[in-house]
Amino acid sequence: MPHWLDQRAHLTPGRKAVSGGGESWTFQVLATKSKQTARQLVKMGVRRGDHVALLLGNGLHTVCVMHALSYLGAVMVPLNTRLAVAELGWQLTDSEASVLVYDEKHREQAKRLKREGVVPSVISWDRLTSLPEEPVLLRRHLSLEEVHTIMYTSGTTGHPKGVMLTYGNHWWSAVASALNLGLRAEDRWLVGVPMFHMSGLSILMRSVIYGMTAVIQETFDPAEANRAILHDGITHVSAVAVMLTQMMDNLGERRYPDSFRCMLLGGGPAPKPLLEKARERKIPVFQTYGMTETASQIVTLAPEDSLRKLGSAGKVLFPAEIRILEGKRECAAGEPGEITVRGPNVTRGYWKRAEATEQVIREGWLRTGDIGYLDEEGFLYVLDRRSDLIISGGENVYPAEVEAVLLSHPAVEEAGVAGVPDQRWGQAPVGFVKPGRGTPVEGDELIRYCQGRLARYKVPTRIVFVEELPRNASGKLIRRSLPDRLSKGGEGDED
Ligand code: ATP
Ligand code: MG
Repeated sequence: MPHWLDQRAHLTPGRKAVSGGGESWTFQVLATKSKQTARQLVKMGVRRGDHVALLLGNGLHTVCVMHALSYLGAVMVPLNTRLAVAELGWQLTDSEASVLVYDEKHREQAKRLKREGVVPSVISWDRLTSLPEEPVLLRRHLSLEEVHTIMYTSGTTGHPKGVMLTYGNHWWSAVASALNLGLRAEDRWLVGVPMFHMSGLSILMRSVIYGMTAVIQETFDPAEANRAILHDGITHVSAVAVMLTQMMDNLGERRYPDSFRCMLLGGGPAPKPLLEKARERKIPVFQTYGMTETASQIVTLAPEDSLRKLGSAGKVLFPAEIRILEGKRECAAGEPGEITVRGPNVTRGYWKRAEATEQVIREGWLRTGDIGYLDEEGFLYVLDRRSDLIISGGENVYPAEVEAVLLSHPAVEEAGVAGVPDQRWGQAPVGFVKPGRGTPVEGDELIRYCQGRLARYKVPTRIVFVEELPRNASGKLIRRSLPDRLSKGGEGDED
């Protein structure tokens, strides 16, 4: 197909493509600037098929670099700017990036990476834009089969894996989303989630494919997000649970206008009390399930079902399929098993990890590593990650369910649950709790609280108080590290 930014600039040149940081570019301007950047990247030695890593924050410049790379047929490797330098270094080496582009905010990290020699050349955005342009022919067509991005998974269950995403994966993800959410010329989607994650990047893909404005926040600000919805015509927002919580706190008694159509809520489990509160305030929350490997959403709860199926992640998007498997057997409705998905938005595999790819992708079906079930009508309920499942006395305990109960206690600020070896039950659930600043609570009281709300085998056998829960750079809880908190002594107040 024609290069999609060229095509978009041809179809709707004057429409706003991106805005943020006090600036706004039309598709025409974005195309011109991206081509300019492409020719400057050639000066840096970037050629077709090269891997170019980005250490860039949310901003118009990042959108420009992204499209510039596609004009060259180079592969973009977006790096999570919150990673430690050693982690960044590992991803740079693993991805075999030839150039790293960074912006002012990430100068220190980039300098250290340069010193460590993990990437052949490093250039700042400012310097890149001052380079002369190499008069080369830019690509006018795209192939949906070609790799567009290598994006690393969050590394919640192990080392991050580089997911290869093709133009086709992004294209189908955007099309699938539009078939579900609808599309209007006046749509404006707020990018408050990081652009180095699929959640943010997918909005930029939709922007160029739909001809929609992406309104970019450099860092997420709940008050500014609310202002933009109330007064600046924002129609869609992508958020994770903590962002929605902050936005609702800031919103107070105000109500969003009807023009606000979609609060796309994903990234992890959404606590039921949050969904209920959002429902009371008439916020159009669309729960969604997806992962880096599926180029963002693959299952989303449509508005007409959001009340009836509260807590479900919804039905599979139009071009995709879903199966729940126990081994090779397909599970019956209501029976939990591994969530397995197939569709044109699903990656063809991990970069340089043929074995890992073979383990999880067979005949196009991706084993997600998540456990869930489908109800009679085909609505998905995500229970937890397979690797975090606790088997206690032969019964399955899903940590997320126990965490949700602990979190509903007013004295608990954060909670994580993991299995520890137990002589009698094989494994037993232990709760790790970061207490809130209010009235202190005893472990015994939390156990009693759980007893009133959970089956006996799910109730934590111990509560360990900790100052902080182990989280990765995406803010996700690393449950496999929780038991370390037990052996550290001193760190936690055991009960
Ligand atoms: P890694 O694969 O490296 O362990 P990760 O799986 O956390 O990291 P991502 O691709 O960022 O990396 O996250 C996708 C995962 O997030 C899903 O596989 C699932 O476990 C979780 N997730 C996403 N949406 C939901 C949801 N609606 N409910 C529950 N969990 C979700
Ligand atoms: Mg994963």
